[in-house]
Amino acid sequence: MKILPSGLSWFTLALLLSGLTRVCGQVIVINAGTLVDPADGSEKTNQTILIEDGKIKEIGAGLRVPADAVRVDLSHEVVLPGLIDAHTHLLATVDPQWDLGDLWIMALQRRAGYRAISGAQHAKEMLQSGFTAVRDLGNSGEYLDADLAKAIRFGVVPGPTMVFSGKIIGPYGGQFWDTPTDARLIENPEYRFADSRDEMRKAVRENIYWGASVIKIVVDGQKYSYSAEDIRFIVDESSRAGIKVAAHVQTERGARAAIEAGVASIEHGWVLSDQDLALAKKNRVVLVSTDFTVASLLANGIEPNTARRTHEGYVARLKRAWEAGVEVVFGTDVMADAKGRTRGELAIEYIDSFSEAGIPAPDILKAMTTRAAALLGIEKARGSIRVGMAADLVATPVNPLRQIDGLKSINFVMKDGHIQGKP
Ligand SMILES: [Zn+2]
Repeated sequence: MKILPSGLSWFTLALLLSGLTRVCGQVIVINAGTLVDPADGSEKTNQTILIEDGKIKEIGAGLRVPADAVRVDLSHEVVLPGLIDAHTHLLATVDPQWDLGDLWIMALQRRAGYRAISGAQHAKEMLQSGFTAVRDLGNSGEYLDADLAKAIRFGVVPGPTMVFSGKIIGPYGGQFWDTPTDARLIENPEYRFADSRDEMRKAVRENIYWGASVIKIVVDGQKYSYSAEDIRFIVDESSRAGIKVAAHVQTERGARAAIEAGVASIEHGWVLSDQDLALAKKNRVVLVSTDFTVASLLANGIEPNTARRTHEGYVARLKRAWEAGVEVVFGTDVMADAKGRTRGELAIEYIDSFSEAGIPAPDILKAMTTRAAALLGIEKARGSIRVGMAADLVATPVNPLRQIDGLKSINFVMKDGHIQGKP
């Protein structure tokens, strides 16, 4: 019985079908010498990872591999999920020589086009250091974060997946407490001032409308600050849209209010009492501690002795938080450029702050992958190497489970199944 149209042989049909498969997505096969699972700190040797359409299709030893698959030999490498920085500002750059390290002057001086272009460069640099996702927390002008996130998603520029906040919401004046001149003279593109309930609700909705996938508030940038009730209102309004709240806190009072209100994360938390830490643990509030390295502080124009002392203070606070059982997620807050260093290189060094605080390597890795993905709300798609997840993975010759510094030697980065080139 002839079931094929005349002139079309089985051979031709097979060729057509294989062509269709190729259109749907080339299969990539990675041979991983060691495959690390940060969730439980386990590792397996000689694993094969099959990737198709940007997703992980199969993982195991001795898998059957399609003959036309692209093979990637990482048999002498340790493979792990792509890293996550939970506190970035890709669209912002402070430069002590240009803007005195001041966010307000930066916002006035740098036009949107320049910020977008340098933001794309920062995104690429983060990716090259192994960061395949970031949570970008504002200081992005007029929603330049939404534009950059879209450009990355559409493959216009390479970069990490961005969970971003849009405009930072804060009490009148936002974060510019140290503005050196008359604040009434300026427009303020970086912040969305919201004092009354109506203003808060509208600010949250505006950000969500423009694409924000996290709400960032600055609690205590002024002499007056948000109360726990204010923050609870913002948390409720955001959660109705399924969105979490990240709270910048720099004072003990601000930290207490945010922790009481049950935000998803407090950012920085420079001043945290033992009671605050206990309550953060109880309310499951994550600390994104942004413990600046000395190099990062110097890039911000801080004088060397002060930089060292400041760094030590941050590490001591991180150690207290860790010992109190507060969940800590990796975030850097890198906003300054250092000559000859990429933003990714500055960010990855923050693992030193975690090591100095006595946090074991497997826990640091978790704070940069699985736990960070959970805070970003992307844990079902990213942050682990599992079947069905996005193929976001990195490789290094040094096993970071034993030596966390191995993360500074990442020499292979794949994002959504695409191998990223080095600079
Ligand atoms: Zn920040």
